[in-house]
Amino acid sequence: MNTKLIDPFGRPIEYVRLSVTDRCDLRCSYCMPRGFSDFEVPEHWLSFDEIERVIGVFGRLGVTRIRLTGGEPLVRKDLPELAARLAALPGIDDLSLSTNATRLARHAAALHDAGVTRINVSLDTLRPERFKEITQGKLEKVLDGLLAAKRVGYHPIKINMVVMAGVNDDEVEDMVDFCIEHDFTLRFIETMPMGDTGRAASRQYVNLQDVRKRLAERYELVAGVMPGGGPARYVRVAGTELRIGFITPISQHFCETCNRVRLSVDGTLYMCLGQDDKAELRPLLRAGASDQDLEEAILAAIARKPERHDFQGRPEQVLRFMSVTGG
Ligand code: SAM
Ligand code: SF4
Repeated sequence: MNTKLIDPFGRPIEYVRLSVTDRCDLRCSYCMPRGFSDFEVPEHWLSFDEIERVIGVFGRLGVTRIRLTGGEPLVRKDLPELAARLAALPGIDDLSLSTNATRLARHAAALHDAGVTRINVSLDTLRPERFKEITQGKLEKVLDGLLAAKRVGYHPIKINMVVMAGVNDDEVEDMVDFCIEHDFTLRFIETMPMGDTGRAASRQYVNLQDVRKRLAERYELVAGVMPGGGPARYVRVAGTELRIGFITPISQHFCETCNRVRLSVDGTLYMCLGQDDKAELRPLLRAGASDQDLEEAILAAIARKPERHDFQGRPEQVLRFMSVTGG
């Protein structure tokens, strides 16, 4: 690994999650409050030129992977144009997208052409009524988006399901069967106490170790597949192509292998999802900083990356919603 970005705990940082907007067309109960509209003002959004410049600096420092996220990234106008510009940057060899898929049917082909190679879709339920309750949106649009992404050649598409007690934990088997049928990869996620919404959802916390045991009663799970650079621990369902990942920030944290930082739409660089350490890059960008200045600011920020989140010790600590930091 060639990155110059090594944090104080010896972890190479080669991955940036880039939030291109804090806005969203859904209101998932665990993420954004109903009626929420206190969004970042457009003057504070990094422009495409500014994003391209910062990611270019990250690329020169050794970052190879960028994920477009949000908020809902497809709410940002002309996202495929930004994607194409980032995919063309030296050093960036993997450009991916996390989306709720409501607008994916319209944009899947353009994103594919622009060089977005992998797509993750949030989907917590297959029942329209329940989808409406959890997100305030329409399930049909998401399913259309998923099928459009499949048609333009995305494979494997990863489905992310936040499992919540009494909300959708009775659907894990249905989701497994759905993903087998459509050849998607499935990842279960534990609720995290981000903002008031995340803390409220944490009352419905489900330990994924228990979900795994439950699934093992119905399916033969083969462990140790797909190591990958991310936080999910994968199993395969024997006799099928389905991979199931378990993302367990609470029951089994994965901070020792953390390889990422997060850049929000206003140019704040967050060193950890579960901590408040940050560096403000927008003032530098708008005060005419040189690339050298930006490199130094990023290196200094990485030198302050915390060892781990403290979701259990201080769950009240992170006030921002997940939609601000980009999940
Ligand atoms: N809008 C896109 C989407 O939903 O995929 C991208 C942004 S969203 C903030 C990224 C991920 O964060 C989603 O998979 C979502 O389920 C997850 N997320 C949001 N709030 C969460 C919470 N409190 N606990 C666990 N996961 C959360
Ligand atoms: Fe929007 Fe994604 Fe948050 Fe749901 S999880 S409210 S889709 S940003």
